[in-house]
Amino acid sequence: TKKTVVITGASSGLGLAAARELAKSGEWRVIMACRDFIKAETIAKENDFPKDSYLVLHLDLAANSSVRQFVASFRALNIPLDALVCNAAVYFPNAHKEGAFFPGLFPGGGPRWSADGHELSFATNYLGHFLLCNLLLEDLKKSSVKPARCIILGTVTASINDKEVGGMIPPVADIGRLEGLEAGMKAPVTMIDNGRFNGAKAYKDSKVCDVMLMRELHKRYHASTGVCFSSLYPGCIADTALFREHYPVFRFLFPILQKGVTNAYVSEEEAGKRLAKVVADDNYAQSGVYFSWGGESGTGGAGGADAVENVDASADRFLQYGSFRTLKESEIGGEAGDDERSKRLWSLSEKLVGQQ
Ligand code: NDP
Repeated sequence: TKKTVVITGASSGLGLAAARELAKSGEWRVIMACRDFIKAETIAKENDFPKDSYLVLHLDLAANSSVRQFVASFRALNIPLDALVCNAAVYFPNAHKEGAFFPGLFPGGGPRWSADGHELSFATNYLGHFLLCNLLLEDLKKSSVKPARCIILGTVTASINDKEVGGMIPPVADIGRLEGLEAGMKAPVTMIDNGRFNGAKAYKDSKVCDVMLMRELHKRYHASTGVCFSSLYPGCIADTALFREHYPVFRFLFPILQKGVTNAYVSEEEAGKRLAKVVADDNYAQSGVYFSWGGESGTGGAGGADAVENVDASADRFLQYGSFRTLKESEIGGEAGDDERSKRLWSLSEKLVGQQ
């Protein structure tokens, strides 16, 4: 019998590539947890997913009620859950630039809001996944696959240590003392630190929270449940739809820069293989850790350097993009490594989703 993995945002980019890899392996049934049912069904068919290897279930992470409905629909299927991948995300890099320089040149648009009244990248990328993980933990506990896994996508710009060049590019992630969350995280509050709205920073901040969520889940539940919680940075997949709201000139130049200059570029297909390994490969059955890949060219190509050639994260001042490394729980630094704030984030998030 096949093992079951839920992947959020499996209708595009990394989530789709990992779903394809796992569905075609013959060993996994992929539950594609997607906000656009038709898009997900169509894309699974276009990608020749074997019929018995996938199922689309509706999930809109930007509505707490949709997360609860998703969990109810999943349980109604009466199948075990062996892995959960929190992958979906939105990114509004220019939403705060209204009126900058010439009117009309930067259309801006300002903050967008979830069904529950929270800034949309915070709600989608982090809060919806917080609720989903909390609810599905019960199901992961019952998995007969040991260990069951819960994987939460991070990113290099979440600055989990002070060595990643990618984490130093402004606006730098900064969740402050969680002032925005303390104030209820509803309009006019947009940012976790209650600062001025900045769409690019809101994305990075949400990803810091994702890594904190992974660490906190590990601390609270790994020993008692055996479930492995991990995060990863799959390399820079510079041409996914994540950048759909960036300027055309950025979307044109960004992949060229990442391929030719930084060597951080990775294709959707290769990144999908990396994520699929974290789901399925025994080498990645670790908890509380953050797996970080370099670009495709620097790692010996597809399936290149991985756990076997791990690089000591504390060795270099500035880590090279070409190297794979596993950051253990104690090596995850920056804001994401702050235990007190992680705990506070957890309890404030419980309040926001009404899970207390
Ligand atoms: P994509 O935009 O290609 O995919 C994002 C997915 O999330 C889409 O399937 C999208 O659905 C889905 N989604 C968005 N909003 C919601 C919602 N409210 N409810 C449910 N699903 C939703 O981006 P990527 O594949 O690039 O990103 C995937 C993950 O990888 C993200 O967590 C991102 O932070 C991370 N990442 C990406 C990097 C990159 O370079 N691209 C680098 C490091 C990390 P739809 O198909 O309907 O739009």
